[in-house]
Amino acid sequence: MYKQFGISNQVLELAKKAEEEVTEEFKKVDELCEYNSLKVLNAFQKYHVSDIHFNSTTGYGYSDIGRDTIEKIFAQVLHAEDSLVRSQFISGTHALTVALFAFLRPNDIFLSISGKPYDTLDEVIGIVENASSLKAHMVKYEQIDMIENDFDYEKIEKRVAKNDIKLIEIQRSRGYSLRDSITLDKIERVIKTIRKVNQKVIIMVDNCYGELVEKIEPTDLGADIIVGSLIKNLGGGIAPNGAYIAGKKELVDIAAQRLTAPGLGKEVGPTLGINKQILQGLYLAPHVVASSLKTAIFASKLLENLGYEANPKHNQKRADIVQTITFHNKEKLIKFCQGIQMGSPIDSNSVPEPWDMPGYTDKVIMAAGAFTQGSSIELSCDAPIREPYMAFMQGGLTYEYGKLGVLKALQRMLEN
Ligand SMILES: *Cc1c(COP(=O)(O)O)cnc(C)c1O
Repeated sequence: MYKQFGISNQVLELAKKAEEEVTEEFKKVDELCEYNSLKVLNAFQKYHVSDIHFNSTTGYGYSDIGRDTIEKIFAQVLHAEDSLVRSQFISGTHALTVALFAFLRPNDIFLSISGKPYDTLDEVIGIVENASSLKAHMVKYEQIDMIENDFDYEKIEKRVAKNDIKLIEIQRSRGYSLRDSITLDKIERVIKTIRKVNQKVIIMVDNCYGELVEKIEPTDLGADIIVGSLIKNLGGGIAPNGAYIAGKKELVDIAAQRLTAPGLGKEVGPTLGINKQILQGLYLAPHVVASSLKTAIFASKLLENLGYEANPKHNQKRADIVQTITFHNKEKLIKFCQGIQMGSPIDSNSVPEPWDMPGYTDKVIMAAGAFTQGSSIELSCDAPIREPYMAFMQGGLTYEYGKLGVLKALQRMLEN
């Protein structure tokens, strides 16, 4: 069977060895998975989820009790006062945009303390000119870079003590930057640092890729608002699209007024038949995130054993589901990504090539043979075509499928 799938004995041997070397790490993931499953199950039971919540609304979407229950459950799982979980959010970028435009007004200052935010926010902020950016709406942007993979606590404390900043953004995952993803103990420390000198500033966390990777969320540590995508962790590979904003009730409401219209807020938004998928996705999410973590741990060990740089390393504490592998070689990078595509259930016969994508500055190669277009909780691998030729791999609906995809990628890379 493996031969038919194009996996050589050499790669199988490497896999066997790597897998044997990560049993300790896998055990920790299993424990995390059980804890977070309990958290989700508790929320389902608390709000008495029943068949009726799988029903759907059309048109304005008034009185959608499934949608309202979903938002209570997400709030509970995320330890937030309220949440907005909607398929009317096109993507994570859209949800972040809605949040930023909802909270920031002309002359407000927006401060990012984890360096430059995710690439797709460049035009939203106005780092790259756009007539509809925050900058075009007179919102000022400031940034404090991270130093040695940690916050610049001193600089942050000094800056926020002036009490003139409206909103601080922290991006938990690394995006396409070279820094590490940020673990929650660092987020806890920085929130304490901020609150020591400033009670008022809104602390918002871009939570993409971070959900359910630890036993708590940034909201447990005092973040006012968190934002993420449903075609990543919390969608469990089942939600067909959408994103969420969760946190303080008052802020969630302001965001809702911005997503729909002032006066309408959370009261409208047809669910068009996806309530069951959202619920089922959340139900499976702890396990799917665990599978993604195992896939990442396996891949990191496998490639470390061959001398490549993996970040995080197989036994390092993880802050998200993203695994980077640095190839220092354009050809190897492209072949690895193509191999991930070849190991996918969907479109395994297409060969991804680097191309110019909207929202990104460099050419990007994206391998994703996914059931849901662009889903990156399903095994996927992408890379901006620039030094040091680093692949960003994430997802895996089950560990077994994740592992097979990684083997295919390694095989293709070694053959070239
Ligand atoms: C994926 C991601 C986004 C944007 O999400 P999309 O759904 O792709 O628009 C924003 N921030 C981070 C850190 C991400 O990983």
